[in-house]
Amino acid sequence: MGLDDEMVRMLVAYGSVVRVRQGWYALPHADPDAIRACRFGGRLACASALRFHGEPVEDDGVLHIEMPANAVGRALEGGRHSVRAHWPRHPSGGNRAVVDADAAWRQWERCVHGNHRRLARGGRIEGGEIER
Ligand SMILES: [Zn+2]
Repeated sequence: MGLDDEMVRMLVAYGSVVRVRQGWYALPHADPDAIRACRFGGRLACASALRFHGEPVEDDGVLHIEMPANAVGRALEGGRHSVRAHWPRHPSGGNRAVVDADAAWRQWERCVHGNHRRLARGGRIEGGEIER
C-alpha cells in the first residue's frame, strides 16, 4: 500500500481500514465473508464465491474457502458458520480475495455432489471439515 506502519495503525484506529491478518488490510465495506476467508489464509471459493459474484446459489451456512496448495493447516473455526476448505492442486483464477465465477461453479459442482455421496453413506457434514 505504500504506507508506513504508523499511518496504517492510525487508519485502523479510525476505522478507515480493517486489519485482516498480518500485512493484509481491507476497506471497511469489504465483504465480511471474504475477510473471514483471508483470515483463514485462503480466498472465498465455491458457493461462497458464487454468492459474492451474485450468482443464484442458496446460502448453505457454510463458508467455502480455497486454500493455497502449500498452506499449512490452520484451525478452521467457523464461528456461527461451518467452514469447508478446498485444496486445489493448482490455484484457481480470480483475485487475492475471491476465486472467479468459472472456478467457483466447478468447485461447487464437485462440492455439492461430494456432499450427497457422503450423506448417502450416513456421513455428517461438520464444521472445520477439510477436503483434500
Ligand atoms: Zn465447497
